[in-house]
Amino acid sequence: MNRPIVLGAGPAGSMAALLLAQSGARPILIDRNQEVGDAICGGFLSWRTAETLRGAGCDPETFGARRVTRLRIFAGSRQAEMPLPETAYGLSRHALDSALRARAVAMGAQLEIDHARRVAPGVVEGKRQIWKSPAIFLATGKHDVRGERRPRDAPDPALGMRVRVPAAADVERLIGDAIELHLFPGGYAGIVLQEGGSANICLALRKSAFAEMGGDPWAIFQHLARDNPHFARRMNCTTARLPIDTIAAVPYGWIARDTEDGIYRLGDQAAVIPSLAGEGMAIALASAKAAVASYSHGQGSAHFQRQFARRAAQPVGVAKFLWHIAETSRGAAAMTLSSRIFPGIARLAMRASRID
Ligand SMILES: Cc1cc2nc3c(=O)[nH]c(=O)nc-3n(C[C@H](O)[C@H](O)[C@H](O)COP(=O)(O)OP(=O)(O)OC[C@H]3O[C@@H](n4cnc5c(N)ncnc54)[C@H](O)[C@@H]3O)c2cc1C
Repeated sequence: MNRPIVLGAGPAGSMAALLLAQSGARPILIDRNQEVGDAICGGFLSWRTAETLRGAGCDPETFGARRVTRLRIFAGSRQAEMPLPETAYGLSRHALDSALRARAVAMGAQLEIDHARRVAPGVVEGKRQIWKSPAIFLATGKHDVRGERRPRDAPDPALGMRVRVPAAADVERLIGDAIELHLFPGGYAGIVLQEGGSANICLALRKSAFAEMGGDPWAIFQHLARDNPHFARRMNCTTARLPIDTIAAVPYGWIARDTEDGIYRLGDQAAVIPSLAGEGMAIALASAKAAVASYSHGQGSAHFQRQFARRAAQPVGVAKFLWHIAETSRGAAAMTLSSRIFPGIARLAMRASRID
């Protein structure tokens, strides 16, 4: 079979399937889930993400995305606010992933539901059947597949946790059209309003900080609210005990510098940018575009992977640097203060952590 296989229908996989279908390549898009989930994510679509989505006929505003025009940073009782270089958006992953998957299918991608157990050049071994193709676009994101595992040697990896505070006048007034970054020792929380007006609160925390705070996600949110008055005001917008979704061991900073013949690694399988930058989805979409272009021009997977690794190096490096500064008390305080006094530097950092 010569039809390309795209494994994983997250942002990277759906975008690749959509572009392959547009080019007439009749891709098979495989995902393990029939129902589109709601991935743990900050839900911040950068201006680069929005631009690529619009180019593919998926304007985020048509799915109800909220406009985001300002960045607000908090460290303890300190605060800074500045305009974003360009308009960004807040949108749930359920809304985004559903729209992209539907668009890929509408353009002609064939959607199949199967759980891949192993991937090797030319073959995807699914639970349901074995799929063969000389071109496999690996877009399983955070999830590794046997045969194509990423190294897990980070001494203190990050964990992700997410709660949703229901829409309310208080939430709207406090957050408005800003993306908020609340910096804590060992991690940060990103808060943004999404379609329908609920607030997505996504926490990325070092495993060591998670353990120090007792390892119970709800108790950790409460603990952070006790020590951080601005964060407490957001959490206190509801009295309900909210459900928390978690994800373990995110390999922030990892970049695939090479690949096997016929395997194009996309999205988080290509480069995992620290989520503080809010550029993971832009990288997912950019990698899909670049891989499909390489495939269409017959340039091969290794060529694509090396080129993309070079493109991703700057944003990933800048985001790693910012994340390391932000996760210490002194660094967070300095970052907030310098953003207030020199907003131009903050804007420069925001631009430097985008994928070109
Ligand atoms: C805490 C946190 C906060 C973040 N916040 C932001 C943010 O605000 N903005 C931003 O731009 N980025 C953010 N990111 C990054 C962003 O979530 C990822 O970069 C993005 O999801 C990568 O997309 P992807 O398509 O590569 O993978 P994914 O979104 O993980 O999609 C993978 C797909 O593959 C499928 N799949 C997995 N395994 C298999 C299998 N074995 N067989 C078949 N199908 C399979 C899954 O069902 C899924 O549909 C954040 C990340 C974290 C961890």
